[in-house]
Amino acid sequence: MNIILLGPPGAGKGTQSSNLVEHHGMRQLSTGDMLRAAVKAQTPVGIQAKEVMDRGELVSDEIVSALIDAELLAMGDDVGAIFDGYPRTEAQAVALDDILSGHNRKLHHVIELSVNEEALVDRVTGRFTCANCGEGYHDRHKLPSTTGVCDKCGSTEFKRRPDDTEETVRTRMQEYRAKTAPILPYYEKRGIVQRVDGMASIDDVTTAIEKVLASS
Ligand code: ADP
Ligand code: ADP
Ligand code: ZN
Repeated sequence: MNIILLGPPGAGKGTQSSNLVEHHGMRQLSTGDMLRAAVKAQTPVGIQAKEVMDRGELVSDEIVSALIDAELLAMGDDVGAIFDGYPRTEAQAVALDDILSGHNRKLHHVIELSVNEEALVDRVTGRFTCANCGEGYHDRHKLPSTTGVCDKCGSTEFKRRPDDTEETVRTRMQEYRAKTAPILPYYEKRGIVQRVDGMASIDDVTTAIEKVLASS
């Protein structure tokens, strides 16, 4: 099964992807994570993307689509893909159709996480992750059960993203409204869009997504 998790920054795409990876053996393909890895490794793509990401704007369609294509090539045909943070423009949605057919895959669901804007600012500015395993946490909504220790791997090192500031998140939301939300009709025409209330608790959102997956 191949699905897209669509939603503005902080909607819960990464959090819900982790659950699907853990319980359904799917693979998360996050262009944000791939780009951050490229920035860290100072590859040509990373060097080009860094400033754009720091401003909260979108990296070029060609770069992100090439990353997705390479990742699909590297993974087994029988592993389901969760597209997290991709596609973000209509050109990317069109490219993804091409890429998927090149890998003999089809798209089963586009799950839209709907969340109100003020909650997003709160979510993004309170977000942090384990520096070792990447598990996601939140200052107010999801603290590790032992203070300062990752639930998943026991690491005591955590990190925050440089673009998780209020100013950048407002730009990222604007980008979402202007360029990403308009791709919904592209998928609605095919009858594969399901809307999930992203304001519910993390567990309730998980249950709602599980229901969508079980419906096919
Ligand atoms: P995205 O990948 O869509 O940008 P994340 O999954 O990283 O969003 O979630 C953003 C922050 O909000 C994280 O700190 C996460 O722990 C928290 N979070 C995610 N889902 C919920 C939820 N349903 N309720 C409260 N907090 C949430
Ligand atoms: P979030 O989890 O907050 O939605 P991401 O980690 O997906 O954010 O993306 C972080 C940044 O990486 C974006 O603000 C953008 O600059 C860049 N980026 C990630 N995915 C894409 C994409 N599909 N197209 C263009 N830029 C992207
Ligand atoms: Zn960890």
